[in-house]
Amino acid sequence: MLKNEYLLDLLKTVEKRNPGQPEFIQAVTEVFTSLEPVIEKRKDLVDAGVLDRLVEPERQIIFRIPWIDDNGKLQVNRGFRVQFNSAIGPYKGGFRFHPSVNISIMKFLGFEQIFKNSLTTLPMGGAKGGSDFDPKGKSDAEVMRFCQSFMSEMYRHIGADCDVPAGDIGVGAREIGFLFGQYKRLANEFTGTLTGKGLSFGGSLVRTQATGYGLCYFTQEMLKANGKSFDGTTVLVSGSGNVAIYAAEKATQLGAKVVAMSDSSGYIYDKNGIDLDYIKLLKEVERKRLKEYTVKHPDAEYHTEKGGIWTIPCDIALPCATQNELDEAGAKALVKNGCFAVCEGANMPSTPEAIEVLFENGILFAPAKASNAGGVATSGLEMSQNSERLSWSAKQVDDMLHNIMIGIFHACDDAAKEFGMEGNYMAGANIAGFLRVAEAMKAQGYV
Ligand code: NDP
Repeated sequence: MLKNEYLLDLLKTVEKRNPGQPEFIQAVTEVFTSLEPVIEKRKDLVDAGVLDRLVEPERQIIFRIPWIDDNGKLQVNRGFRVQFNSAIGPYKGGFRFHPSVNISIMKFLGFEQIFKNSLTTLPMGGAKGGSDFDPKGKSDAEVMRFCQSFMSEMYRHIGADCDVPAGDIGVGAREIGFLFGQYKRLANEFTGTLTGKGLSFGGSLVRTQATGYGLCYFTQEMLKANGKSFDGTTVLVSGSGNVAIYAAEKATQLGAKVVAMSDSSGYIYDKNGIDLDYIKLLKEVERKRLKEYTVKHPDAEYHTEKGGIWTIPCDIALPCATQNELDEAGAKALVKNGCFAVCEGANMPSTPEAIEVLFENGILFAPAKASNAGGVATSGLEMSQNSERLSWSAKQVDDMLHNIMIGIFHACDDAAKEFGMEGNYMAGANIAGFLRVAEAMKAQGYV
C-alpha cells in the first residue's frame, strides 16, 4: 500500500487526468509503490518534478486508418503512437495489432517501456503504438493494405534518430516487412527506422528468438542466485506466439520439460513434453489455432476454461501471452501445486492480486520489465548494426543478449538490496530503471 503523501497526491492527479484507463493506472501504481523508498531519500528528484513529468507522455498521436478489404468494402481502424519519454534515447517500443488496443493499453505499455529500455543500459527512450486492427483471419493482401495505410500516417512521426518501432502482439515478420516497405517509399530513405526486420533487409540474427531466450537467461540467473536451475523442472508457458515459442525452446535447451502452452481459445497439456517443432509449424507457418495440436498428438489434452493452464502442476510458470492473464486464483493454484518461480514474458501478465499471492508465499518472481527486456535489447543491437551497416553473427548477438540479461538481473538484485527489499526483483527493476531515466531528466531541465 502506497503511504508517501507526494506519491499519493500524484497518483490521484494521474487518476483524475486519465479516466477510463485502468491498465495505465495499474502500471503507474505498481511503479510508485516500488519507488517509495527512493522518493524518501531523493528529495532532489521530487524538486525537479521528475515523476510529475514522467507520468505524462511527451506526445500522443491518434489517427484514422482507412483500408479496403478483399470484398472491396471500406474498413476503418484507429492507430496510436504514444511517445512517452526520450530522456535517454530515441523513442523505442513495439506496435501491437489486436482488437483490444486502446489508449489505456498503449499508455501502460509505453510507460513500462521507459523503465525496461533503461534497464538494458542501451540508449533508448520509451514508446508504444499500434491499432485495434485484428490480423487474425485476414488475407496477406488485406494485412498489406492495412499496414500501408497505417504507415501513411505513422511515417511522419518516426525515424532512425527519433522513434524506432518494432513488433508486438499481432505484429511479426510479415507485418514489419510491409510496414518497412511503405516507410521506405514515403520517407525516401533506407534507414533502420523499424526493428525486427527480415534478415535480407537489415534485420538482426536472434531478434526473433530474443524475448523468449532473454526471459530464460534472466530466469536462469535468478534461479542460480537462489540455488536452483531449470534442469529437470516442469514448465508451463502461456501463449503460443513469438515470446512463448522461444521461451519454450530455450527452457527446453536448459533442461526443462515444457508441458503446456495456450492461445486465446484454450490450452494444451502434453505430459510427454510439448512438440515444439509442430507448434512452430502450426503457428508460424500455417497460422492455425492451437487446438490443431491434438490432431498429431491425440494423447495431449485440449481444454478451453480460462486460466485453466495455471492448475497444471509445475515448478516454473512463464506467462507469455498478454496483460492480466494470471489472476489471484491462478497464482493460488500455482502455489498449491508447488510452483517455485513465476517469470513474466508478456507485459504485466500478473494482476496485482496475483503478485501479492506470489510474494506472500515466497515464490521467486521475475517482473516483465526486466525479464522480457531481451527483445528490445536485441532491437537496440539491430539499430547499432544498421548504423554501422554491418551484420553480426548469431553467436555474437546471442552472447551480448545473454550478458545484458545477466546484467539486468544483477541491477534489479542490487537495487532491491540497496533499498532494503532483498529478493523483491519487481521493486529492484522499477528502482534501477527509474534512476537512470530520472538522472537524465533532471540534467536536461524542465522539458
Ligand atoms: P504474438 O502475437 O506472437 O503472440 C501472442 C500470444 O498470446 C498468442 O498465442 C495469442 O493467442 C495470445 N494472446 C493474445 N491476446 C490474448 C488474450 N487476450 N488472451 C489470451 N491469449 C492471448 O505476440 P508476442 O509473443 O510478441 O507477445 C506476447 C507478449 O509478450 C505481449 O504481452 C507482448 O507485449 C510481450 N512482449 C513481446 C515482445 C516481442 O519481442 N515480441 C517483447 C517484449 C514483450 P491468439 O493467437 O489466440 O490471439
